[in-house]
Amino acid sequence: MTQICKLCELQRQLRRSHILPEFMYQNLYDENPRRFHSLNVDLDDISKSSNKIEQKGIREFLLCDQCEGLISKYEKYAAETIYAKNNGNKAYIVNASKTDKGQYTLYDYAGFSYKDFKLFLLSILWRMLISEKFTEIKGEEEILERLRVAILNEDPLLYDDFGCLLQVIRYNEQQLASKFILSPYLTKDADSLVINQLVDGFMYSFYFNSKQLPIGKKDFFLKEDGTMKIVGRIIFNDPFLLESVMKTYQYYDSLKK
Ligand SMILES: [Zn+2]
Repeated sequence: MTQICKLCELQRQLRRSHILPEFMYQNLYDENPRRFHSLNVDLDDISKSSNKIEQKGIREFLLCDQCEGLISKYEKYAAETIYAKNNGNKAYIVNASKTDKGQYTLYDYAGFSYKDFKLFLLSILWRMLISEKFTEIKGEEEILERLRVAILNEDPLLYDDFGCLLQVIRYNEQQLASKFILSPYLTKDADSLVINQLVDGFMYSFYFNSKQLPIGKKDFFLKEDGTMKIVGRIIFNDPFLLESVMKTYQYYDSLKK
């Protein structure tokens, strides 16, 4: 059966595409059985939050072979660069400094391929927003169309278009807040709506109106010269996140008994 590919909009045989690429989940899986924790958070009422055990990352019929191939180039780049697969880590830290009385560590990165990494980020944002099953958060038609055309034409847009703040969330200096995924949730920052996705210790925060942000906020986004500021954060400084994670782990502990 053929359907319309969501990216090229041609009538094609569609594949079951990942919303988030499989490598982003890899550290999440318990070995036996193979599964991970998916936590659904209700920001207004934390008691309504739920926890699900998933066997595999969410997939949907989205893309044709050709478009799947297009996106997979950028996924491969991200896997090698920030997930350090195949020892192909191409980006590097120029400087690390503590800010706000040691609450945050600011990592100045350089060496990113702007095009490759930005298109990876755009492709995640777009897939989350068009997905039927992954989240109930939907993008406006105009936003979706801008993202679709940019990805299809392999145009990474400007650094302050759909800017993404990337944070590494840890329990302590050594330990990544890994082994679980939070459902995407919306926040507001500097008059921009932000969609947040925490997966295996990496928090991706995409700004819908990033063009209008003050310059200080834009400073964290990936730049055309391949630099990016990545924030390291200890989870205990964020009450909302901490509560969410503790819920996950209570659940996790109860499974072992
Ligand atoms: Zn296609």
